[in-house]
Amino acid sequence: MNGELAANERLLGELRAQLDGSLLNQVEVAVCPPFPFISQVAAWLGDAGIHWGAQNVARQDNGAVTGEVSARMLAELRFRWVLIGHSERRQLFGESDDAVAEKVGRVLGQSLRPVICLGETLQEREAEVTEAVLGRQLDAVIPVLARDPADYVLAYEPVWAIGTGLTASPAQAQAVHAFLRNRLRAAGVAGADQVRILYGGSVKAGNAVDLFEQDDVDGGLIGGASLVAEDFVAICKAAAVAASARMRPETVQKAEGDSSDG
Ligand code: PEP
Repeated sequence: MNGELAANERLLGELRAQLDGSLLNQVEVAVCPPFPFISQVAAWLGDAGIHWGAQNVARQDNGAVTGEVSARMLAELRFRWVLIGHSERRQLFGESDDAVAEKVGRVLGQSLRPVICLGETLQEREAEVTEAVLGRQLDAVIPVLARDPADYVLAYEPVWAIGTGLTASPAQAQAVHAFLRNRLRAAGVAGADQVRILYGGSVKAGNAVDLFEQDDVDGGLIGGASLVAEDFVAICKAAAVAASARMRPETVQKAEGDSSDG
C-alpha cells in the first residue's frame, strides 16, 4: 500500500519527464500502483511508452467474490502486467502455491503478463532450504507457464530483503537466478534461456549495476526506491547499461511496499 493523489501526481510527472524515449527503447518499464490510482497512472503514462500493472488479481474468472478484481477486468483497463505471489500476499493473505498457479493461468488466459514472485524467508535461508522452497514455488507454476517466454517474468524476492535495506549480494542473487533457470531448463520449459528473471529486495541506485550485470539477473522489481523518481530512473539506467551488454532488460516499479518503504 502506497500512494496518495497529490504525491503520485508529482512522481508520475517526474517519471514521464525523466524516462525519455531513448531509455525506454532499451528497457521495458512498468508501474504497478494500488488499484484506486490506476486511472491516474493511465492518464499520465498512457502515451509515454510506460506500461502499468496490478499488484494482485482474483483467483476466480467471475462470480460472487466481492472485493476481488478479475484478470478480465484488468485486460479491459489495458493493464499489461500483474504481480502474482508477492511474499506479502503469500504470508499475510495465505496465498498458496496452488492459488498462485491458478492466478497465473487466469492472467495468461487474458493475454496479460504475470510477474511471478518467488522468495525464501530468512529462517529458510538459514536452514539451507532456499532451493527446496524456491523449487517448490516454481514447480507449482511451470505447468501453466506460457509457451512464449516474453509473456511472463519471474521475480526472485528474498523475503528478508524486501523493504529491509538488506540486499542479496550479487553472487547470492546470481546463484538463485541460475538455479531457477536451470530448473526451467530441466522441466523443458520453452525458451528457458530467454525467460527474464528479475531481482527484488532493497534494490537502490547504488547497488543496481552490480546486481544487473550478473548473467542471470535480467532486471529489477523495485519497491521503496521507486517512490523517488531520480532513484528509480537511475535504476532504469543501470538496467539499460546491463541491456547494452545483453538483451534481456526489464524494470518494474512496484509503487507499493511495507511501512519501511515510507
Ligand atoms: C517489494 O516491496 O517487493 C520490494 C522489492 O520492496 P523494496 O525494493 O523496498 O525492498
